[in-house]
Amino acid sequence: MMELRIQLIPTGEIILPPGKNGEFYCQSCTKAVGSDGIRVMMESALTARDRVGVQDFVLLENHTSEVAFIENLRKRFKENLIYTYIGSVLVSMNPYKELEIYSKQHMERYRGVNFYEVSPHIYAVADNAYRSMRTERRDQCILISGESGAGKTEASKKVLQYYAITCPASDHVQTVKDRLLQSNPVLEAFGNAKTLRNDNSSRFGKYMDIQFDFKGAPVGGHIINYLLEKSRVVHQSHGERNFHIFYQLIEGGEDDLLRRLGLEKNAQQYQFLVKGNCPKVSSINDRNDWKIVRKALSVIGFNDDEVEELLNIIASVLHLGNVQYGGEDSGNAYIATETQIKYLARLLGVDGTVLKEALTHKKIIAKGEELMSPLNQEQAASARDALSKAIYGRTFTWLVNKINDSLAFKDDSFNSKNASVIGLLDIYGFEVFQNNSFEQFCINYCNEKLQQLFIELTLKSEQEEYEAEGITWEPVQYFNNKIICDLVEEKFKGIISILDEECLRPGDASDITFLEKLEGTVGGHAHFLTHKLADGKTRKVMGREEFRLIHYAGEVNYNVNGFLDKNNDLLFRNLKEIMCMSENKILTQCFDREELSDKKRPETAATQFKNSLAKLMEILMSKEPSYVRCIKPNDAKQAGRFDEVLIRHQVKYLGLMENLRVRRAGFAYRRRYETFLQRYKSLCPDTWPNWDGRLVDGVSTLVKHLGYKPEEYKLGRTKIFIRFPKTLFATEDALEV
Ligand code: ATP
Ligand code: MG
Repeated sequence: MMELRIQLIPTGEIILPPGKNGEFYCQSCTKAVGSDGIRVMMESALTARDRVGVQDFVLLENHTSEVAFIENLRKRFKENLIYTYIGSVLVSMNPYKELEIYSKQHMERYRGVNFYEVSPHIYAVADNAYRSMRTERRDQCILISGESGAGKTEASKKVLQYYAITCPASDHVQTVKDRLLQSNPVLEAFGNAKTLRNDNSSRFGKYMDIQFDFKGAPVGGHIINYLLEKSRVVHQSHGERNFHIFYQLIEGGEDDLLRRLGLEKNAQQYQFLVKGNCPKVSSINDRNDWKIVRKALSVIGFNDDEVEELLNIIASVLHLGNVQYGGEDSGNAYIATETQIKYLARLLGVDGTVLKEALTHKKIIAKGEELMSPLNQEQAASARDALSKAIYGRTFTWLVNKINDSLAFKDDSFNSKNASVIGLLDIYGFEVFQNNSFEQFCINYCNEKLQQLFIELTLKSEQEEYEAEGITWEPVQYFNNKIICDLVEEKFKGIISILDEECLRPGDASDITFLEKLEGTVGGHAHFLTHKLADGKTRKVMGREEFRLIHYAGEVNYNVNGFLDKNNDLLFRNLKEIMCMSENKILTQCFDREELSDKKRPETAATQFKNSLAKLMEILMSKEPSYVRCIKPNDAKQAGRFDEVLIRHQVKYLGLMENLRVRRAGFAYRRRYETFLQRYKSLCPDTWPNWDGRLVDGVSTLVKHLGYKPEEYKLGRTKIFIRFPKTLFATEDALEV
């Protein structure tokens, strides 16, 4: 006799609709239950809600209560239910452990299924964007935000994997899919690093377009990268590392490769790798990752020569870091060690003597004549660092371009302009360290811009939907962070303008004069503070070299030290010249001779970043957005730990309560008529088994039968809008009786 096992499955975890044989699928165990001798006993909706919380925050009884919100997150987190909706926004908690919810089987469950019919999942968001793109022929974007370590990059990889597995494929498409997937390990190797917040922190911003043809197959892609944190190449804070690729190469590189590159198998030998005193990280296997990256490079289409040239560059950065200077009596710098120069000359494909001179002198043009002026030790070290950063930063951009070439759609019969696109944004999260510098200033400014976009688009789209459906609506008040964006980016009086002004000003301009100028211009701004108080006294909690911005996500003190240099991002002319003469083919593409003839001053780093963000906002505004809001459960990177204070802070600054209020102020639920009828038609004899008339009439008949009061719902053009969640609860519960 077949054994009957009884399994208790909470309704919230059942993935609907049932499969062909009427079996249900359980979200946490993936197995089909209710078949094969397993009998499912559905937990009643009410007890399930008690245990695992609600899967959409709009269903919370007390939607204005932050306590209830956090409690719901806690319940779900405890049950490994890391995803919850606020309407169509997905809130995602980082579980810090592998969950078995990303299998192919799971993907299949989400494919082509309506958003609200299945438990919340990143795949539901991916699928929804895909179907909207297909049915409405409108470009989509998925915006993933949250602080460092909250799970943005992981989420974006899940989305990409979902498309790679579920979208239609042909031979060509398979190549594209492989390349799209393999671009991740490569970019992460060169652009991610271990920080105090995250062992695999993205140190660059990434926006990736995935292009689909009319059949819905992915046929190409394009990546835009934003501001790589180049300063990490030459300096890392305690407990942090340089970019992964350096350690991968040293740990995993084959003996003869390392010999060719003149490298030793010991990261401790390299000045650029020891600043953070953290060469090994328990969660990272550099040797293994090296193999993955090597393979990925070939999938993307790098040939052996290109890989060799790329690695020559990476090794040369390490050798540059070991160039040590001594000081002559005159104070002029000289190079104390010759071995590095020998390797550098070979790896960079330049003349050793010229390089040596360029690393200790600066070329000045006076009265039409070129003069080599000697540098002192400090100046020479900073020239060496500037060269290392420039080489690495430009090589990274080259790498992105190379990946883009390989992802570009090459079939003439198909015009990529006709492609539909889903954009994926994974950009560095809001960041506060003990010491915050120019990089954090840029990163946090970028997060302000994204928050601004979130505010505009969520409110705008909500409003537009009511308008399109002919429903009247009461707008909700919310904190608009435009005031902070303006403080940073406004022309002439914003912080970036003032910084640029100081960078251009000849004479005594310094980080401190920049700070003083800020005090004079934006000192009175509600979101700006320095140690100086209005009455002339000193605010003790702040350093004299700091300014504080009151961001939407919290207060951050920025130390102005290095702001001017980093914003100027200058490389001495003779260093540029020598790089232009390099025989390394990658470097010749990175350092263009035209740059030397260009008399115009290049844009500063902050202005370039500001302009690229403005372009990004335009791109995103032209697409229909889906939002994923990632939350980090604790700072210890540990599974199962729910740090309430930390989480409450994120809920606050991500504006999730406001988001919920907006969603609830109008109508908590909306469903297309056909979906609503399909799901609940069995509750009314007039609509069961089928309704033949107009959909709106069917829904109207159904809800009247269910006893909905007129103030509880509205009928729009294509959807029913339900004001209170409890109305829908009651209907859901009725299904189970
Ligand atoms: P940053 O802004 O620093 O780049 P991030 O938001 O991109 O941070 P991730 O790198 O995606 O953060 O996540 C940090 C770590 O958390 C991952 O390396 C992984 O260990 C864990 N993690 C995140 N999301 C998940 C998930 N869905 N399942 C399992 N582990 C996860
Ligand atoms: Mg990341």
